[in-house]
Amino acid sequence: MTLAVPTDDFDCQSCGACCSYSEDWPRFSLETDEELDLIPAEYVSADLGGMRCEDNRCSALDGKLGIHVGCRIYAVRPIVCRTCMPGDDECLMARHKLSQKVLL
Ligand code: SF4
Ligand code: SF4
Repeated sequence: MTLAVPTDDFDCQSCGACCSYSEDWPRFSLETDEELDLIPAEYVSADLGGMRCEDNRCSALDGKLGIHVGCRIYAVRPIVCRTCMPGDDECLMARHKLSQKVLL
């Protein structure tokens, strides 16, 4: 079976693994109220502490995992989304998890 997430490149627009990692991610951290107000309520979790997820997938993620994805709120995305960098430990962990899920 072909992996949904390629292991030899880190093209976020054909990945999306870190945006579909956990129902508890991403959470808000140091955003100001003004910054949070820019995120449409439909994408925010019921407890207002992070993004709303469906089956571990952030509701603001558009597209098909491993093929082509995009963030519907890219310009105003949470801080943790900005700090996750292609190839870092969190990225590798998310990609590994998604690959395992696809292989099951
Ligand atoms: S940071 Fe890593 S896991 Fe997240 S979309 Fe980019 S390549 Fe995928
Ligand atoms: S807000 Fe955007 S960048 Fe952050 S997890 Fe959701 S889809 Fe990904």
